[in-house]
Amino acid sequence: MVCTKAGERCRYAEQMESKRYRCTACGNLTRFDVEITRTTREFHHFSVGGTLEIEQTEILGETVDQILCRWCGHGDDVVRLDREE
Ligand SMILES: [Zn+2]
Repeated sequence: MVCTKAGERCRYAEQMESKRYRCTACGNLTRFDVEITRTTREFHHFSVGGTLEIEQTEILGETVDQILCRWCGHGDDVVRLDREE
């Protein structure tokens, strides 16, 4: 995740926190490999010397391709939980 300004809470991270997963095979609730394809628009600000600073990142869209349980090594038994559960 790209957060552009130090100390500024990232709106995207807040969105991700509302998503939870569970592996029904081993009971894992906390560790997953999540593969995501993201489309972003970034403000690239180059100094005169050519040093790049990315000052703003906007997420235009994303697709979760795969969620793997870290313990099982596959995502066959991973289910998505609603926040209320
Ligand atoms: Zn598992």
